[in-house]
Amino acid sequence: MRRESTNEFEGHHDDGHEGGDPRKKSFSSRRKGCRFCGREPLKIDFKDPLLLASFITERGKIVPRRISGNCSLHQRGVAQAIKRARFIALLSYTDGFHPGSMSEGATP
Ligand SMILES: [Zn+2]
Repeated sequence: MRRESTNEFEGHHDDGHEGGDPRKKSFSSRRKGCRFCGREPLKIDFKDPLLLASFITERGKIVPRRISGNCSLHQRGVAQAIKRARFIALLSYTDGFHPGSMSEGATP
């Protein structure tokens, strides 16, 4: 039983624009480019949760490139960083785990 709703919340509802052309999106005014390729290039840091948070949806998914505006190169970098950050967050929960502790004394 799976409920997959792929298209939820994906569309933008232009609430502020009433009576405008429904098909026209204002692309011309400002090019929403990659934040990491910009004039002041950001560094992708997986230890920077604030930065990564801007590329994650509320549900914890990685924001698609066409929404985030990243180029493909940096979108990959961001995705990688997010995965890494998740991994680290996961590790931090298992605090008492010491990799070497099982090899000694546990032999039957
Ligand atoms: Zn870029």
